[in-house]
Amino acid sequence: MADIIQLLPDHVANQIAAGEVVQRPASVVKELLENAIDAQATSIKLLIKEAGKTLVQVIDNGSGMSATDARLSFERHATSKIRSADDLFQLHTKGFRGEALASIAAIAHVELKTKQEDDEVGTNLIIEGSEIVSQEIVVTPKGTSIAVKNLFFNIPARRNFLKSNQVELRHIIDEFHRVTLAHPGIHFMMYHNGNELFNLPESNYRQRIVNIFGNKTNEKLVPVNEDTEVLKISGFVGKPEYAKKTRGEQFFFVNDRFIKNAYLNHAINSAFDGLLKDGTHASYFLNLTVDPQTIDINIHPTKTEIKFDDEHTLYAILRASVKHSLGQFNIAPVLDFDRDAQLDTPYNYKDKGVSTPQIEVDRDFNPFQEQNNFKEQRSSKQATAFKKQTPSSWDSLYVGLESKGTQSQQEFTSVQFETEEKTASIFNDDKALENSKSTYQLHNKYIVSTIKSGMLVLDQHRSHQRVLYEDFLQHITVKESVSQQLLFPIELHFSTQEIDIINQVKEDLEHTGFVFSNVTKESVEISGVPVSVPASEVSVVLEQLISDIENEVPDSHFSSADLLAKSMAKSLAVKTGQTLTVPEQEHLVNSLFGCKEPNMSPFNKTTFITLSVDELDKKFV
Ligand code: ADP
Ligand code: MG
Repeated sequence: MADIIQLLPDHVANQIAAGEVVQRPASVVKELLENAIDAQATSIKLLIKEAGKTLVQVIDNGSGMSATDARLSFERHATSKIRSADDLFQLHTKGFRGEALASIAAIAHVELKTKQEDDEVGTNLIIEGSEIVSQEIVVTPKGTSIAVKNLFFNIPARRNFLKSNQVELRHIIDEFHRVTLAHPGIHFMMYHNGNELFNLPESNYRQRIVNIFGNKTNEKLVPVNEDTEVLKISGFVGKPEYAKKTRGEQFFFVNDRFIKNAYLNHAINSAFDGLLKDGTHASYFLNLTVDPQTIDINIHPTKTEIKFDDEHTLYAILRASVKHSLGQFNIAPVLDFDRDAQLDTPYNYKDKGVSTPQIEVDRDFNPFQEQNNFKEQRSSKQATAFKKQTPSSWDSLYVGLESKGTQSQQEFTSVQFETEEKTASIFNDDKALENSKSTYQLHNKYIVSTIKSGMLVLDQHRSHQRVLYEDFLQHITVKESVSQQLLFPIELHFSTQEIDIINQVKEDLEHTGFVFSNVTKESVEISGVPVSVPASEVSVVLEQLISDIENEVPDSHFSSADLLAKSMAKSLAVKTGQTLTVPEQEHLVNSLFGCKEPNMSPFNKTTFITLSVDELDKKFV
């Protein structure tokens, strides 16, 4: 049989390799920004059009390239950054694999303009799908500009696989955050479709964080600094009370490179143990500096996963220093294991003074005269009415029990009045049934109610989610809002992208009853809220909403009304563990059965079950 193995042509090999390096526009952004940093640029501009699908361009003022290097830079395994495999363990640059430009050029239209400081003129190179289309001399400032257009133009499958512009832009911004946080000493700018999204001047680390995430971030940061033989840590953690529902603001940098590492993330979480509300995540911006010889960055093409020689030691140091910082800034509570929580003063009484209980002694008290005393006191109208219905022996028994400890005449009468009703129901069977509780709360989780055929058990959290969900959806789709005016408008601070997201759903939010009196680049002012949203919950609701929209899988039939209603129902539904009064329980049962689809929560979980008397009977055989 004939030989069948062939070497793949270069452009095909490049396309295959590109798949590993370039997954989406954000990957191009990362590679180009890193190249500019490696070229010692002090000012870097990122221009994006249509979330990078039509253009990703990076302009830097770095070293630039000679005409020969410009051409060579697009060859596979062409790099100026390492010479031998040994250099892999002494890395001081972002790139080293020499495949980013080759990969990008294989799957896009690329235009490069570059000039070195001492050269008169620069080079302009156009490459389309690995083919050099033109190379010319050009007048251009010192540095490099690389424009990547029509990404995946020759791989339609990959192009179709790209998500909505909103999601792709989100990825680009994430990448931009990672790179810019690692290099506060460099001036970065970012534009999307001609609008400036970020302008981050050269600054210190704290200012860089604040410039990216908004002014309000400043007061949230607690510095972490540690210098040991094996590891140097610098950076900040967010105060626990500002912990977010999303994992968005969690950044580890190792030797100025953003990395993901679940194990080290765990170290931070354990330092925060007991300080965070359920379902929230600590923010952190931490730079770790280690000897380059003790890490291996080579294990992943996108270089976000790295291997440490001694992870256990790093874990311990990291955990201890974060704990130390939280303690030093008086954030961690003083631990006292012997303290009995039951003896703590309830919150409402915390600031009230202690008063000595009043003890009154009735020196004339004679137990054998009780009947007489009682008659004297019982001169009010209610008391007379009470007497009519109740045999005298019961009468005295109840009063004696209920009024124990009460001293004044007035209190005494009111107690008696209550007693009257109760006593009456004991003797009146019909009324007893009517007055008895029709619902009962079990373990602060389930509501048990009787129905004709037997009993009903509701999951309070899920049921309430269903009720709220249908309610919000109704308001959004019918576009009728029931709003309650706030006496003092609430101002909330967000990052630029978060404001972007709020703007996208603002109209729907207004239909639920939100009134936005002012929206700026970093804050929103809210002067009205839906009737069902307590003012204290507004920030939680919006934060949850932003996080839900960010995490929305765009392929799955995105409906903002549905998402909004679900998200708000999730934030506002009564939680498991919350005690409900009997009227609240009854209201929930009635509202659930007023829903269009009472059987399921908006997240497709069972809301209630029934047990018939027959089924119960069977259990008692
Ligand atoms: P790597 O960064 O791994 O070396 P790349 O394919 O990203 O590989 O880049 C190849 C080479 O092109 C780099 O090693 C560098 O010499 C040169 N280069 C790329 N971008 C720039 C830039 N913005 N300024 C100067 N030189 C650059
Ligand atoms: Mg590179």
